[in-house]
Amino acid sequence: MNRRLKRAALFFCLALIVAACAKAAYTGRSQLLLISEGQETQLGLQAAQDVLKTEKKSSDQIQTERVKRVGQRIAAAANKPEYKWEFHLIEKDTVNAFCLPGGKVFVYTGILELATSNDELAAIMGHEIAHALVRHGGERMSMALMAQLGGQAASIALGAGTSNPAVAQAFSQAYGMGAQVGFLLPHSRAQESEADEVGMILAAQAGYEPSGALSLWRKMDAYSSKKGQTPPAFLSTHPPSKERIKDIQAKMGAIRTRYYQQALLN
Ligand SMILES: [Zn+2]
Repeated sequence: MNRRLKRAALFFCLALIVAACAKAAYTGRSQLLLISEGQETQLGLQAAQDVLKTEKKSSDQIQTERVKRVGQRIAAAANKPEYKWEFHLIEKDTVNAFCLPGGKVFVYTGILELATSNDELAAIMGHEIAHALVRHGGERMSMALMAQLGGQAASIALGAGTSNPAVAQAFSQAYGMGAQVGFLLPHSRAQESEADEVGMILAAQAGYEPSGALSLWRKMDAYSSKKGQTPPAFLSTHPPSKERIKDIQAKMGAIRTRYYQQALLN
């Protein structure tokens, strides 16, 4: 390739990357997204079917209804009509919960041992839903595509369908599907902190007291530091550190005033 052609190719790649730069919902943070929300949603729907094939739904009607009710209130606050929301309670004694792109939410019975109040359940569901709304999975997929394909990633991924093997591979890399369904790979610290903040906003808008996040993460912290116990995968991807608790505490007052008190008036 001669120099002019190389320069043109580089310019083309840069233009695509600029086109792929978006602002995160709620926080306005810049993010690199090489796939569309529609592609992400389609992959999320397929993955949700796999989860439902593998896992057993809880037969506890009361807890199942509770998860649905809290979820629907958060979904109403999220105001995302293009999502086809579903809330499933999975019968498994493990601390886990996640939301796939497109609005398929899975809560495991094991996490209800910690999220005993509805405010705490709203905190965990708000956090997981926030990851999907702010498209953290899409960001991780984009990073995986960049690592896999380098400079070609943008041009390939932007025009690719979900059946493109590179896109499918990036999805399983980002979501850890396949090897162990439902154990998402760790988010970055920035994404975790963003999901805590946006999750608290969503829960507060839905009428749940934002201090639920504080008591939940304190319980998670106590749970993960219990001696002689291997912490569940969820806690290794969601480290309940003292910094996290401090960060939640610092954000709580403003969220309560701005969103929770407002929700109480509605
Ligand atoms: Zn998270």
